[in-house]
Amino acid sequence: MKPTETIWHNGEYKPWHEATTHVLSHALHYGSSVFEGIRVYEKNGEPFGFRMHDHVKRMYDCARVYRMVIPYDYDTIYDACRGTVNRNGLKSAYLRPIAFRGYGTIGVAAGKNTPIDVAIAAIEWGAYLGEEAREKGARVCVSSWQRVAPNTIPAGVKAGGNYLSSQLISMEAHRLGYDEGIGLASDGTLSEGAGENLFMIRNGVLLTPPQSEAILSGITRDTVIRLAHAMGYEVREQPLSRESLYTADELFFTGTAAEITPIASVDDLDIGSGSRGVITEKIQSAFFGLFSGETEDSFGWLEPIADN
Ligand code: PMP
Repeated sequence: MKPTETIWHNGEYKPWHEATTHVLSHALHYGSSVFEGIRVYEKNGEPFGFRMHDHVKRMYDCARVYRMVIPYDYDTIYDACRGTVNRNGLKSAYLRPIAFRGYGTIGVAAGKNTPIDVAIAAIEWGAYLGEEAREKGARVCVSSWQRVAPNTIPAGVKAGGNYLSSQLISMEAHRLGYDEGIGLASDGTLSEGAGENLFMIRNGVLLTPPQSEAILSGITRDTVIRLAHAMGYEVREQPLSRESLYTADELFFTGTAAEITPIASVDDLDIGSGSRGVITEKIQSAFFGLFSGETEDSFGWLEPIADN
């Protein structure tokens, strides 16, 4: 990771290397953080946050589930996201706001004496699964690790602790030579990738696991659903079997980091022609067209970052 100049930390902009926390911080021991990944895209020479309002709102929603009260109001955090990009002189970036239980008590049920710390960093980050995968497709496997069961650790909350599951899935995939792993829900149906939602195309229809299948209801997933509808495609959110992966016409991942990444093969079986599918390419073009200007931003997803 290449350091940028400044990180917003508990209300002030600090030099990158000074944005630190105590080793006895609650979140470090118990996973008690909620965070976001937000992409900033350059359009006509200016930075725009992609659905930044939706991301910041999700962070507040996630904090609420864990009864964490973020000690800054929404506008302060939203403005600090913009400020972190601007002060680092970035035109495109990956923003990482995080709110976490800090240093106070070592007890698991953190009381009032444990503060909620907030930090916002902006870094430069290219294609998550590689430039080549964006075009040719990623090689993925079904993980031997399943996702969390309903009413255990909430899969719909983007909390630090959830990423232990993602680490097991992704590390196993890499160890076996794949780019990424897909997790199954506790009932054996498909859930999502380690850090991506999953879409399947069959007979021209887009299929994706519903929110009930231990997924994070991704903002990119929602973006794709809306773009696909606007393009005239039918989209169904429904439970999907593992075996349906192997006979899909096309598959792709969605996520802020992964953007839209085609899947070329699963468990060494080629999907379709074994490279990016036709509909996947169209949806990818519509998505990236939002930033080149080729796709009209009719939903108002691009939010200005620069101070004007
Ligand atoms: N699922 C998981 C487990 C993730 O970590 C992410 C990335 N935030 C996603 C799905 C995709 O969500 P989004 O499109 O909001 O980034």
